[in-house]
Amino acid sequence: MSAIAARYFDGRSSRLHRVTLTVEDGHAVLRGDAERREPLHALQVSERSRHAARKVSFADGAYLEVDDSAAFATLLRQTGHRDGWVVRLQHSWRAVLAAAAATVALLWLGYLYLLPALAAGIAAALPPAVERQLGAGVLKLLDDRMLAPSTLSPLRQAALSERFRRLQPPQGATPAWRLQFRSSRIGPNAFALPSGDIVMTDQLVKLLDNDAAVMAVLAHELGHLHEHHGMRRVIQGSIVTAVSGLVFGDLSTLMATAPALLLDMKYSRDAEREADDYAVAMLVHNGLGVQPLVDVFARFQALERKQGGDFGYLSSHPPSAERLARIRDAGVRMH
Ligand SMILES: [Zn+2]
Repeated sequence: MSAIAARYFDGRSSRLHRVTLTVEDGHAVLRGDAERREPLHALQVSERSRHAARKVSFADGAYLEVDDSAAFATLLRQTGHRDGWVVRLQHSWRAVLAAAAATVALLWLGYLYLLPALAAGIAAALPPAVERQLGAGVLKLLDDRMLAPSTLSPLRQAALSERFRRLQPPQGATPAWRLQFRSSRIGPNAFALPSGDIVMTDQLVKLLDNDAAVMAVLAHELGHLHEHHGMRRVIQGSIVTAVSGLVFGDLSTLMATAPALLLDMKYSRDAEREADDYAVAMLVHNGLGVQPLVDVFARFQALERKQGGDFGYLSSHPPSAERLARIRDAGVRMH
């Protein structure tokens, strides 16, 4: 096996040592200005490139530069060194970037498509007790911090509950629900917790000023319950937190996020659309037509014009033209 001329640097000084490189018995052997013998597996060979010399790195920081890359390639082949993709990957920033981009793309696709399906599957398979407990915990938290007992009379509360109870669900079984009236420091609001508790604030009842519109909001919330949107969102958030915990190495926040996710209850547009569709179907199914839901939107729009939309129910349920048009369309289709 022939010897190849090379330049050796010991990694401590910039002094150049002219040496020859041979491979003997699984070892790289240097002779000349410097003498050295190292097992091949302890060395790293740089990526092949058109102009630069090939570089052989020793574990202690010393390195070797070889200009005759053809002879060097032959030597590598003869020694069975695999000048393959592993070496390339380790040394090429392009490959690193490509791998990072591929990882991001994969995570993003997973986030868009896999995660919602997974969360829906898990939510459907969870025992109801889990949703009950989670919802009850969040309601208690809210009662401690943001909600006060309702000022509506028990009679009025019972009448609204009874009126909603008489409505038939548009499809399947009615999800378990319990109407919880509260007074709120966060203005007009209504939301459904995974436990089936639908919280309706006095402020929203007052704003709607129309019991049929209250039914429309409740039907929308029942739609969220029917689709397990709350639980799905918590599961999705938990998976995202868990995955980023795995990626970035911090799992401590995982268990703390579920209540926060529920408090920051912003569903996806798809979820809102599904809840709107459910509400429309329920109203129409019970002979009320879509007008109550249209009235809800009119009230929201008026409030938005007056106060801006960045709080409470308005921020999570913007009275967008798209939603309104969709509801009106649905009404036309269904009547
Ligand atoms: Zn909603």
